[in-house]
Amino acid sequence: MMRDLGSRDVAFMKAVKEIRAGLLELAQVNEKDFTTVLIQGSGTFAVEATIQTATPRQGGKLLILANGAYGSRIIKIADYLNIPRVVLEFPENEKAPLNDIEKLMAAHPDITMVTLVHCETSSGVINPIAQVGKLVREKLPQATYFVDAMSSFGGIPLNMDACNIDFLVSSANKCIEGTPGFSYTLARRSALAKCKGNSRSLSLDLFDQNAYMEQTGQFRFTPATHSMLSFHQALKELKLEGGPEARARRYQENRRVLRLGMAKLGFRELLDDSHEGYIITSFHFPKHPNFSFEKFYSKLNEKGYVIYPGKVTRADCFRIGSIGHLFPKDMQNVLVGIEKTLQEMDIAVPIQESK
Ligand SMILES: *Cc1c(COP(=O)(O)O)cnc(C)c1O
Repeated sequence: MMRDLGSRDVAFMKAVKEIRAGLLELAQVNEKDFTTVLIQGSGTFAVEATIQTATPRQGGKLLILANGAYGSRIIKIADYLNIPRVVLEFPENEKAPLNDIEKLMAAHPDITMVTLVHCETSSGVINPIAQVGKLVREKLPQATYFVDAMSSFGGIPLNMDACNIDFLVSSANKCIEGTPGFSYTLARRSALAKCKGNSRSLSLDLFDQNAYMEQTGQFRFTPATHSMLSFHQALKELKLEGGPEARARRYQENRRVLRLGMAKLGFRELLDDSHEGYIITSFHFPKHPNFSFEKFYSKLNEKGYVIYPGKVTRADCFRIGSIGHLFPKDMQNVLVGIEKTLQEMDIAVPIQESK
C-alpha cells in the first residue's frame, strides 16, 4: 500500500490483471464464462452499479429478499433508481423461506432479477444462496440472480456457477482483509453481455467498465491504486493461509471462542442454534439496570477493542465480528476486556438479568 504507482504503470496493470483472475479463482469459476468488474468506491457502489446495469430500462422488475439492514439498502437503491420491485421481507433472525419465495416467483413471472444477501451482516444470518439460486433457474429461467456476498466472500467457500449466481458483489476490506477503497462484481459473461446501455449512471456502469478494462487493461476513471496494491498482497496472504477453507476455519474458531466466553459472562445471542453463521454474532443487550450500550462501547474502545457502534436489528442487540486479521487469542483478549468493562459498570458476572 505504501507503493505509489500510477494507474497506467505496467506493474499496476499487471496487479489488476492478477486481482481479476484471483477473484474468479476464489469463486471457483473460469475466465471464459465469468469476468471480474472492479468498481471504485465502497461495497454499496458495486451493489448500485449491478442493479442498474442488470435491469433493463423498460420492463425491469426486481424480487428483493430482505431480512435486515443490507436487504433494506437494496430496496432503497431500487427506489432511487425508480425500478419496480416486489419485496419479500422475512424476520431478521430467520433464513430466506424457500416456500414463500417459490410462491412469489409463480405470482410474478415478469421478474427480471432476484436479489439476496448472503451473510446479512446486521444479524449474522447466512441465507441459503444455493437453494434460492436453484429456484431462480427453475421458476424464473429468464431472470438473473444477484447475491450480495459483501461480508462472506473469501471467508465462506462457494462455487458461484453451482449456486446459479449471475452477479456477485463484495468489497476489498471484509473477508479478504484488504484496505477500503474499491469493490467488485463478479459477473456471468452471458448475463453481462445483455446489459449494454442499461445503466442510468455513467460511472456506475458495469458493462462499460468491463468492456474498457478488457480492451485496454485500464480503468475508465482513476482507480484506488494504493488500495488495489494492498488487495493484491491480501490475496497472496489468503492463498498462503490455505484459501477460503482455511480462513473459514480460523473465523469459526474465533467465533467458537467468542460465543463460549460470552455465554459464560451471561450474554444471550439473537440467533438460535439452527444458524451456522460465523462472520458476525449478535448479542442481546443484557436486561440489567446498569447496562448502557454507549458506556459499554466507549469503555471497550478505551481498552483498544472496537465493536460495531450501533444496533441495526429491530431487537436491542450489539454485534461482534469474527472476521479480519483476528485470531483466537484476540477473541480471548476481547473477552477479558468485556469482563473488565462489566466490572467497571457495576454489573456482576455472570450477568443476572432482571425479569
Ligand atoms: C459491508 C456490507 C455492504 C457494503 O457496505 P459499504 O459500507 O458500502 O462497503 C453491503 N452489504 C453487506 C451485506 C455488507 O456487509
